[in-house]
Amino acid sequence: SPIARILKDAIRTIPDYPRPGIEFRDITTLLGDAWAFRRAVDELVQPWAGSKIDKVAGIEARGFILGGALAHQLSAGFVPVRKKGKLPSATVRIAYSLEYGLDEMEVHKDAVKPGEKVILVDDLVATGGTAEAAVKLLREIGADVIAAVFVIDLPALKGADKIRALGVPVHTLMSFD
Ligand code: 5GP
Repeated sequence: SPIARILKDAIRTIPDYPRPGIEFRDITTLLGDAWAFRRAVDELVQPWAGSKIDKVAGIEARGFILGGALAHQLSAGFVPVRKKGKLPSATVRIAYSLEYGLDEMEVHKDAVKPGEKVILVDDLVATGGTAEAAVKLLREIGADVIAAVFVIDLPALKGADKIRALGVPVHTLMSFD
């Protein structure tokens, strides 16, 4: 559709970042375009317009920018899923693998009440390892993770399939081969 095309054109590709051979999909150009940012937020929440969503959980750091906007749009609360050591109150923590080595993320134990409906958001799903860890953390504190949404899917890496295999529907706005 023309809108999908315009949103895709708002993404900038940086060759050889952060390492040679990687094409980094940069969403700052979309965020800086008032129309594209608003439209992307509208499209990300569209399947849940009029549904009661309790919380939007955003993955640090680009998921925070989108997540605040999504939460406002859905009249939901916002839950930060953060890198370890950043959250001040009692947390649950999970280790997950990155391309090189391991990292850990955390969420406050009391960030959701048992059974609350949560939408997870990040800018991009690649292998799905980051989002999978976030789904597990949110479930550990009792969340009903009703969907995971991303601006960008890299379908060759099958991350969206990995999240769907957890029983979480996935909604993305565009793909890059
Ligand atoms: P995954 O865990 O799915 O392999 O990687 C996804 C995570 O890495 C997301 O948090 C995402 O922000 C980040 N990421 C990986 N590649 C890119 C990229 O090309 N562009 C952007 N904006 N983020 C990326």
